[in-house]
Amino acid sequence: MPLPAPIQDLAHRALRNLRLSVTDRCNLRCHYCMPEREYTWLPRKDRLSFEELTAITAAMIPLGVRQVRLTGGEPLLRRGLDQLVSQLTALPGLEDVALTTNGVLLTEQAGDLRAAGLKRLTVSLDTLKAKRFEDTTRQDLLPRVLAGLKAASRAGFEQIKLNTVLLRGSNDDELEDLLDYALESNFELRFIEYMDVGGAQNWKQDFVVSKDQILERIRKRFGEPIPVETPDYVPARRWRLPQGGTFGIVASTTAPFCSACNRARITADGRLYTCLYGTEGLDLRAMMRQPGGAQLVVQAITERWTQRNDRGAEERLEAQDRGAFQKVEDLKQNPHWEMHTKGG
Ligand code: SAM
Ligand code: SF4
Ligand code: SF4
Repeated sequence: MPLPAPIQDLAHRALRNLRLSVTDRCNLRCHYCMPEREYTWLPRKDRLSFEELTAITAAMIPLGVRQVRLTGGEPLLRRGLDQLVSQLTALPGLEDVALTTNGVLLTEQAGDLRAAGLKRLTVSLDTLKAKRFEDTTRQDLLPRVLAGLKAASRAGFEQIKLNTVLLRGSNDDELEDLLDYALESNFELRFIEYMDVGGAQNWKQDFVVSKDQILERIRKRFGEPIPVETPDYVPARRWRLPQGGTFGIVASTTAPFCSACNRARITADGRLYTCLYGTEGLDLRAMMRQPGGAQLVVQAITERWTQRNDRGAEERLEAQDRGAFQKVEDLKQNPHWEMHTKGG
């Protein structure tokens, strides 16, 4: 039987894409994401089980969800993640399951994840310099990430992407080297503009390397990039290089794609957010644990999505004297607002 049409929000945006944050914990401390010494963690007992995550996803398929991305925190810290992948890939109607990871634990897990049915993988990589990696993440683990990427290549994923957040004065001098590395390795690199959301307490406009600046640098070194047609709901614009190979840019700060955003996010303890900048979560965990939970979840998500009017990143463009979006004291009171909790 064909699935019903997706539910739409007030701006006629369909619900299509779900990001599941499977843990708020992380084994790195990237300075643009988790710069603090102390964090308020979600209680372990509140974490949704794999069965609950799968049941919520299944309930959202008739509402429109076709793609799921597992994220965190660091998703590979969640023991037995391949079992969740198996459960999700078995769901009828779900077209795509992907994963975003920092790659530290990939060597150990790439084979099992691939065998469980994961086809696409995104690994975050901001530098190819060991000392700089340590300065950026507070861990001396670049060799493990690079080994993880090699293991992922061997495991035979259909697509491996790299995510790079460029910060002026931190790693922007590596733009060309990172792209060379990606092209040689057959990975598609996506540059992500530095965002002011959640834990990005040190955010300043001056640190943002914009899409236009990135393109200018690429033009100088590689020649004129040729735009590749991409649907408007995909956050990255993509280009082909004259010598072959593609790359993307997610201009989330200077040219946000809110008008086509089809994403919902669920935290590891089951709060649904309809925007990365959103502050009002919907507690699906409590609903799911009641009799007839799946039906309650469907009703509540339908109500929330059909009233959705979020355009967080576009609104931030209008902010005067722009700095970090949230205060660190507020994040300690509301850990759900952290990027590492909501899932980037
Ligand atoms: N830990 C995993 C990782 O790093 O790939 C998954 C979660 S992480 C929050 C997801 C993505 O968000 C990463 O690619 C990371 O670079 C990106 N990110 C984190 N903070 C950001 C910020 N302030 N601006 C832009 N991207 C950010
Ligand atoms: Fe870095 Fe990802 Fe961890 Fe944030 S969640 S500190 S981006 S590895
Ligand atoms: Fe979507 Fe919110 Fe990001 Fe805009 S800011 S693209 S509405 S998640």
